[in-house]
Amino acid sequence: MLSAFKYRIYPKPEQEMRLKRTLLSLCDLYNLLRAKKIEEYKQNGVSLTKTNLRALALAGRGHDSKLRLVHSQVVQNVADRVHIAFEAFLGGRARFPKNKQPRKYLSLTYPQSGFRVDSERGLYLSGIGCVRIFMHRSLLGKVERLTVKREADEWYAIFLTERKTPPKQPISTIPLELVSGADLGLEKFAVLDNGKSFDYPEYLRRSEEKLKQFQRRLGRKKRGSKRWSQLCLSLAKLHLHIKRQRADWQNKRVKEIFSVNEVLVLEKLNIRGMLGNHRIAKSISDAAWGEFVTKAVFKAEMLGKHFVAVDPWGTTQFCYSCLAWVPKDLSMRVHKCPECGIEIPRDLNSSRLIKRLGIQSRPPSDGGSSLAEPRPLPSLMGVASRGVEAGSHQE
Ligand SMILES: [Zn+2]
Repeated sequence: MLSAFKYRIYPKPEQEMRLKRTLLSLCDLYNLLRAKKIEEYKQNGVSLTKTNLRALALAGRGHDSKLRLVHSQVVQNVADRVHIAFEAFLGGRARFPKNKQPRKYLSLTYPQSGFRVDSERGLYLSGIGCVRIFMHRSLLGKVERLTVKREADEWYAIFLTERKTPPKQPISTIPLELVSGADLGLEKFAVLDNGKSFDYPEYLRRSEEKLKQFQRRLGRKKRGSKRWSQLCLSLAKLHLHIKRQRADWQNKRVKEIFSVNEVLVLEKLNIRGMLGNHRIAKSISDAAWGEFVTKAVFKAEMLGKHFVAVDPWGTTQFCYSCLAWVPKDLSMRVHKCPECGIEIPRDLNSSRLIKRLGIQSRPPSDGGSSLAEPRPLPSLMGVASRGVEAGSHQE
């Protein structure tokens, strides 16, 4: 499986200038290829393929004195990015690709060659030079590609490597007590089926509060002014800080769950619904949940454990114990089942129901239940159509 190793790099001032110039040229190229792709489709009804785009990128490099200094694979990778952006849009996973602003075009990728790590001299980057790198941990696996990224005023080298994963115990042989279901929510970050819960850490709330203040201040500054750009940099640094705090906290929670469980069951997140949301509080939690799922999937693979996603439909409305339909709106925090009499917090009911769905989804024999191999998601639809009139309730 692919994993990323990220290291801070320290380009010298002239190397940093070269990196910045390269990013500007690549950004222009990205916008050019995007425009060509749209134009070709509008005028001739032809959709440019990845190969077409790569050829265009290389042709562009031939005419451009600045791009000629950039490694040819780095230039071709821009074509791949345009291709991926359109694929994501066509697949319903993203919005229509936008023109990139130079201040938001922050990375360049060497797909296979053009870079070398030297223990003495640092990281050699074609077209940039030898850059000092701080390797705080060893690089494991076979390097597939390298991305150089600017984050606020810092630079990073991110190596993507292919690593072997440990074998998994077949999911059907895992005892039920080693299966954990979790409900991700706004009030608590997660509630586990054993009653344990993870509160959203206070320091993150504080940081996010600060973020909102910064954004308001930024709105009062004149766009493009000196104060505005200073504030932009501070804002970018704060974003970075929050991202790291959140990643660190989430990694610890995922680790905690897998230290005692073999299987983690979560709801499949609705990516489409998330894209449409502009409220800050909601977008922060959406992002956090998305990252948490990504981490759980990754960690499960690295540890030889299982991650199972279930259909979120109805997980707040049915009784985990007897599967009776118990409708409730968001204000009702307790699940009280008229059928079996059970009375537990709403989130706990959801997490147990999620676990139950996850268990039902287990294939009869071998394992391999992960997001990587999509199977029909286990859902409560079947319960609904057998029991209550399915059409009469909607979430
Ligand atoms: Zn019940």
